[in-house]
Amino acid sequence: MGLRLNIILGDQLNRDSLIWQDADKQQDLFWMAEVMDESTKTPSSKQRTVLFLSAMRHFAKTIEQDDYKLTYTCLSTGFKSFQAVLAETFKTYEIDEVRCVLPGDDRIVSDLEMCCKKHELAIEWLADEHFIARRGEFKQWMQGRRQPRMEHWYRHLRKQHHILMTQDNKPTGGQWNFDKDNRKAFNKDGPQKKPDELAFGPDAITRQVIRDIEQTLPELPGNLDTFNWPVTRAQALSQLKDFITNRLPLFGNYQDAMWTDEPFLYHARLSSSLNLKLLHPLEVIEAAEQAYDHGNAPLNAVEGFIRQILGWREYVRGLYWFYRHHWLDYNALDANMALPDFYWDADTEMQCLHQSISQVLDYGYGHHIQRLMVTGLFALLWGVKPEAIHRWYLGMYVDAVAWVEIPNTLGMSQYADGGIVGSKPYIASGAYIQRMSNYCEHCQFKPKQAKGTQACPFTTLYWSFIDRHQEWLENNPRLGMQVKNWHNKSTDEQTQIRQRARWLHRHLAESENKEQA
Ligand code: FAD
Ligand code: SF4
Repeated sequence: MGLRLNIILGDQLNRDSLIWQDADKQQDLFWMAEVMDESTKTPSSKQRTVLFLSAMRHFAKTIEQDDYKLTYTCLSTGFKSFQAVLAETFKTYEIDEVRCVLPGDDRIVSDLEMCCKKHELAIEWLADEHFIARRGEFKQWMQGRRQPRMEHWYRHLRKQHHILMTQDNKPTGGQWNFDKDNRKAFNKDGPQKKPDELAFGPDAITRQVIRDIEQTLPELPGNLDTFNWPVTRAQALSQLKDFITNRLPLFGNYQDAMWTDEPFLYHARLSSSLNLKLLHPLEVIEAAEQAYDHGNAPLNAVEGFIRQILGWREYVRGLYWFYRHHWLDYNALDANMALPDFYWDADTEMQCLHQSISQVLDYGYGHHIQRLMVTGLFALLWGVKPEAIHRWYLGMYVDAVAWVEIPNTLGMSQYADGGIVGSKPYIASGAYIQRMSNYCEHCQFKPKQAKGTQACPFTTLYWSFIDRHQEWLENNPRLGMQVKNWHNKSTDEQTQIRQRARWLHRHLAESENKEQA
């Protein structure tokens, strides 16, 4: 009798998944593979690549320690694709059955199906129980909803799982959300009471992965001297504990704030551990809820944090699968510009972008507002082709996996979906960045100026965006006012703004418009 092949992908590093429930040491062969395409088709930053490979190798070690049969293919073998490794596996072993937990990327589903079919094997897809919503629950919830919104989904899950709810099923604190308390900026002294970072000194496995990447794929973007991400469940649990104890109390207040040379502030940095499935979302939520119950963190912080995981994370996953056949074709704003070169090296005089991109190169990280209101906002105002900006986000951030990156980038940030994720595009001028950070203090541009040589490019492009899209923006109840403000400007001012926008496009196009292949 042949073996049962169990495929484990790089973001399926949980031993409580369905694939392990009836694992058999005689009959099962576990299969893990590092392949070139996953790092190079969309160039994956060094930080992201090392995180995935190191976490995979650590996970493989636990499988071997438990005496399960495992075939693990390393990057150095030079295999290009999962299909190529699988074909080799089918040659080497006698395989009767293949199964895999449903991947977080529809492309991988079709690739694996095709490959198994070629070898006359069917693949069994097991439900991914890492998430809080049950299989099919989101689809059912969507039925009959004309304007689904995250807020309603979040309340549905909160009630169902009794999270931050009173005995009589009311939201704790009498409100569903405390967003208005969570938009503070720092005063001029910047962040105080900043806890030290945990250091996960790279062990022998991680050091080997770093050497492998420097030798095999030295051209990948980013730096590695700063690598400090949790690569095991034990490390992820330490990161969770550190966040709950030291950062959560101030997380809410400064959730949206940014500060020069402060890449992490009070953010959790748990997204990569969650997305690799080293942590379960409910254990993270429970830890936050307990901090509130024990009086260790205020409600605005705890609710704000839980909303991100129970609300946004589950919501974008639902939307990814619901619209999975369409995402990559969306381009509602008809955006066609290439991604400016400075996205790959942070070489720009715009301080907000220089800061936000430098930390992506150094850590593979940006917090939500840096992604949405700096790197994402610039791409939106500039008119970058959705596919180009999507590839950048997917490759550069350590926590990027298709199911979460795609709806956030193409939906929330770029409005390429025409309003599926959010009801309006997130547009703002440099004044927003000035209010929420100290970046502008170190910048040669003036955030409030839209015209002239010192004009902030965000502000110029913000008005130019409204000018370009005024017809449909006028009909949006939340943005109509901004169109009126554009019309209230004198013809001369409008002309100067348009001239400056054209100059920016010419200037950046000449010097910085070679999109990375
Ligand atoms: P915190 O700020 O401390 O938030 C707590 C947790 O909530 C995060 O760990 C994350 O798991 C979850 N979360 C927060 N916001 C979202 C959201 N919008 N969608 C899903 N989960 C959320 N998140 C990813 O995990 N992977 C991505 O590839 C990704 N791409 C993004 C692209 C863009 C353009 C934008 C605007 C956002 C993106 N996000 C992505 C969401 C969010 O920015 C990150 O989850 C967050 O910054 C991770 O850092 P943290 O763990 O310190 O989060
Ligand atoms: Fe960014 Fe404009 Fe502020 Fe400079 S002035 S940091 S470009 S928002």
